[in-house]
Amino acid sequence: MRLWLFSLKSSEKGCPLTTGRNLSNLLTKKIVDDATCELCDGAPETAEHLLFFCPFSAAFWQRLGVQLEPDTAVRDLHHLQKPGSLPPTHFDTFVLLCCWQLWKRRNGIVFRQESMTLPQFLQSCKLEARAWSCRLPKWDLGVSNIWCSAFSSAM
Ligand SMILES: [Zn+2]
Repeated sequence: MRLWLFSLKSSEKGCPLTTGRNLSNLLTKKIVDDATCELCDGAPETAEHLLFFCPFSAAFWQRLGVQLEPDTAVRDLHHLQKPGSLPPTHFDTFVLLCCWQLWKRRNGIVFRQESMTLPQFLQSCKLEARAWSCRLPKWDLGVSNIWCSAFSSAM
């Protein structure tokens, strides 16, 4: 996970969403014959669709107060507008945590036929934020508490 996060932050090159694991990339490589998003059945599964525009993802970001532009792209993750309720410190990590959770939810649905409501998903994000907080510098631990509050408020 850490390697993927580093790669996503520094470039798209190592991101599983852009290097071939989303259906649109697999369709291009003729590994699958249909790239329709298995979560909503309403659009091709691209990295942008999965992370930002699939109805569940869009609702998730909206609840957190993160504004998405129609042309928001994965390569611009570090340019997402921070809502006023979240601290600027480690906001990029917060975004990556959210994307990681969306990717894991997608895999749970596609490969394990799991289901997760938005409140359940926000709870899982909160638990993940607690886990990630141990990797933050000690003096920034309060940041993860604010993240957890944001997830709770969005439930
Ligand atoms: Zn979708």
